[in-house]
Amino acid sequence: MHALISGASIAGPVLAYWLRRNGWQVTVVERAAGPRAGDGGHAVDLFGPAVEVIERMGLLAHVTAARTANDTITLFRPGRDPITVATADLAAGISGRHVEIMRGALAGILHAATRDDVDYRFGTVIERLDGATALLSDGSTVEADLVVGADGLHSGVRGLAFGPERDYRRFLGAYLAVYTLPDVLGTGPTVAAFAAPGLAATVYPTLLPGLSRALFLARVPEEIPHDRRDPAVPKQILKNLVGAALGPRIAAVLEHAAAADDFYFDDISQVRMESWSRGPVTLVGDAGYGPGPAVGGGTSLATAGAYVLAAELRDVTAGGLREALRGYETALAAPVRHSRAVGPKVLDAIVPRSRAQVWTTAQAMRLLPRLPGPLRRRLTSFGGGPAAMLDGLVLR
Ligand SMILES: Cc1cc2nc3c(=O)[nH]c(=O)nc-3n(C[C@H](O)[C@H](O)[C@H](O)COP(=O)(O)OP(=O)(O)OC[C@H]3O[C@@H](n4cnc5c(N)ncnc54)[C@H](O)[C@@H]3O)c2cc1C
Repeated sequence: MHALISGASIAGPVLAYWLRRNGWQVTVVERAAGPRAGDGGHAVDLFGPAVEVIERMGLLAHVTAARTANDTITLFRPGRDPITVATADLAAGISGRHVEIMRGALAGILHAATRDDVDYRFGTVIERLDGATALLSDGSTVEADLVVGADGLHSGVRGLAFGPERDYRRFLGAYLAVYTLPDVLGTGPTVAAFAAPGLAATVYPTLLPGLSRALFLARVPEEIPHDRRDPAVPKQILKNLVGAALGPRIAAVLEHAAAADDFYFDDISQVRMESWSRGPVTLVGDAGYGPGPAVGGGTSLATAGAYVLAAELRDVTAGGLREALRGYETALAAPVRHSRAVGPKVLDAIVPRSRAQVWTTAQAMRLLPRLPGPLRRRLTSFGGGPAAMLDGLVLR
């Protein structure tokens, strides 16, 4: 059996690994010119079953060694003393098993674990699909048994097999921006956090000395139509959304947006599909059930989802493919349903709606380390958030 997978970040290589273990031939096409490894991207989370999948791949020691070392978070407020808490206290309720790692570092480890026996084709996309026969952008044709879109929120395979993105996108009422800048805050290894009504920002050190990464979340009542091809446009939108509301330190951080060559700006939207398989084509990770970037625990869902798909395909022949894909969707139905409630809850918790909520968040941070464990866990669980959505998932 031969699988053609589109996307080589998280879900793609995890699926490729397990399919190879089951004797499949695997081709992975990836739009980027090379592995999306290194310090790039943002910090992502592996919770519970996703950690288990990484452990079963024999990669837990590598992943743990590459984890981020942002052990404290400091809330800065104009004119007031900063409040510092241990990130372990803030994550107490999220999961008993949790590793935070840069997306690039995780992608690099997954690529290294699969590159020797998977046919990776970088700088290549699927241009046309006819069943499981794909015409690639390098002019070649791949005749596979199964085509998998592991190509993220703006999935190309989803577009080709299921139709336009607007049919599957649910806007959660916020935008997200991330970019790298010199360490202008000089706040050391802590995650510097800032909040104002409708806004939240964090600035944290990257793995490269002297560089920081800034992440902004901004609530908006409606989507802001804009030209995505001109990078200056989203940078201006971010400046307009934040203004001076987060204080002078963040104004200095914003000044560096114009020069950033890795500026990422996107709406926070979920991918909602009734079914994410059609004939010999299926989707995995953000492409099929992205819970919303930065707020939904998408990395864990992508990792666990890829494993579940591979498990359903374990002994399958061409005739049993449809049933296996039905099994995959059934096994993942509850976590995916649950995941849709997570993003809005997390947004509510981390992007205050009012001055009063900015104040209560600061007080909660101040109190948190002094609270008894069970209460601390309840307060930091985001109402059964990103980790709890995988609770019911049994890995075969
Ligand atoms: C700023 C930001 C912050 C985030 N923070 C967190 C967090 O704190 N915790 C967390 O768990 N998750 C977080 N996420 C979400 C997380 O990054 C995703 O859920 C996760 O990466 C999904 O993995 P994936 O493999 O499904 O898709 P992706 O990681 O999006 O990978 C898709 C791959 O497909 C490639 N590709 C795209 N289009 C094509 C095409 N047409 N053809 C071929 N290849 C293509 C892309 O280059 C990419 O390599 C965040 C996301 C963003 C953007």
